[in-house]
Amino acid sequence: MGEEKKKSETYRPYRYPCPECGAPMRYDPALQALICEACGVTLKKAQYYEVIGRIRDYVRDALRPRVLSEEEKRRREYLRWWLSKKEEK
Ligand SMILES: [Zn+2]
Repeated sequence: MGEEKKKSETYRPYRYPCPECGAPMRYDPALQALICEACGVTLKKAQYYEVIGRIRDYVRDALRPRVLSEEEKRRREYLRWWLSKKEEK
């Protein structure tokens, strides 16, 4: 009969990775802050998102696939052309 639907994963509350060491951080409702149990970093949620946002931007920029803009392509073409000209001489 009907196959038992597999639950994709046991539900786990979202863990916040520590910006310092990458270990999951724990949310402390009393302090209203995220605490890293591995390295002891404590960040208010707003601070956390600010830090994470900055890291994310940095990573996104570093990992961005190098899609060349038309202008950049032209510049490279020109550079290649210019270099080949130079070599010919
Ligand atoms: Zn940490």
